[in-house]
Order: sequence, then C-alpha cells, then structure tokens
Amino acid sequence: MEEIKKKYKCKYCGEEFDTPLELARHVRAKHKRAKAREKIDAKRTAPLEEIAKAIEAIGILKGLQQVSPHLNEGEKKILADVSKRMETLVMYVQRSK
Ligand SMILES: [Zn+2]
Repeated sequence: MEEIKKKYKCKYCGEEFDTPLELARHVRAKHKRAKAREKIDAKRTAPLEEIAKAIEAIGILKGLQQVSPHLNEGEKKILADVSKRMETLVMYVQRSK
C-alpha cells in the first residue's frame, strides 16, 4: 500500500517537490530574484524612507514660500495649504506605526 505523499509546491512556479528541503533548494537555485523582490516589497510596507522623503518635500515647499517673494497671495496660499496637508499626512502615518 502506497502512502499519499504530501507535495511541497513552489509558490513561484508551481513545481512540486517531495520534501521541504528539495523545495528550498529549488527556490534558492531558481527564484533568487523573486525572493529579493519580496524583501524590497516588505520594505515598502515599512515606509520609513518614504516618510523621510515627505518631510524633506515639506521643507522644500516651505523654502519655496520664503525664497519666492513674487508669488501672489493665491499662490502662497496654495503652497501653504499643500505643505500643511502633507504635514498632517506624515503625522498620521507616523502615529499609526
Ligand atoms: Zn519554482
């Protein structure tokens, strides 16, 4: 009587293996790139760098307001509104972590 063997299926290409070891070996050999990409995606869900960039962008916006004396009131207001909105967003993102 033959036992029904559990198969270990590769999540990248669907190939099946008899042991987890064989599967791991296969993934290491064939899908290194996919694994590396997964790591990058994982980083994206923890957007520390993105927050830093947003804070930098807010700084640029505020700087623009100061170094542009020729802006009319409407334009100044838009810049102020945009930087305020971004500040608020950054605040929420940081708080939700
Ligand atoms: Zn595979």
